[in-house]
Amino acid sequence: MDATAAGRSRTQNHGNVEDVVQLDIRQLHRLNVLRPQQLGSVSIPCRNQRPVNVTICGDPSGQAIWVRDPRIGSSAHIRLTIEWRPCRFGGRRPLFRCPACDRPTLGLFRSFYKWWCRRCAHLSYESQNQGELDRAVARVNALRWELDPADPGFDVNMSAFRDSDRIPKRPKGMRLETYQRILEWIREGEQEARVLLFKKLRLLPIHEPKGTRTRQRNRSRR
Ligand SMILES: [Zn+2]
Repeated sequence: MDATAAGRSRTQNHGNVEDVVQLDIRQLHRLNVLRPQQLGSVSIPCRNQRPVNVTICGDPSGQAIWVRDPRIGSSAHIRLTIEWRPCRFGGRRPLFRCPACDRPTLGLFRSFYKWWCRRCAHLSYESQNQGELDRAVARVNALRWELDPADPGFDVNMSAFRDSDRIPKRPKGMRLETYQRILEWIREGEQEARVLLFKKLRLLPIHEPKGTRTRQRNRSRR
């Protein structure tokens, strides 16, 4: 284990995951930048700051990627190990190995100029402190950003009295059915968030949109 990580207290909190740059291995896999010697660049949106461009090159072994230090003017590269696990229905899926604790993880977060898993970076999810409405909006935005990392996001206050104006485009390589399913979840989530807003403003009798709960449960099982 990395000495810095081991030395940092478990009770420390260095902020929310939403405020730091995150490398999501599922996104990198979809963008095809994990292949050996494949060079690519991803733009990572981050709250309260401009999107950060990260340049990535696949290691010839296929078991790691080289990530360039995103600081302007820096040319340092760090090697991040990838573990490939077989999927239940064939194929394989990648996971990062945290450079500090070596645990497998889907996301690495940039904090103190290094990449860490969420535990080692001492980051918490804002949702741990969010109310029901904020969580509903966060779920919608997670789906929107899955389709388009540059999507401006869903603003429930603006959209409460009209339909949402912008539908994220289908990402390259995503199957039409998957895209349509995600759009359906987005529409349901937005409707749910509007109902929660109306409830909060006491504009509606308290009820839930039909089927929302069941579908959410199914979604978590996908
Ligand atoms: Zn770790």
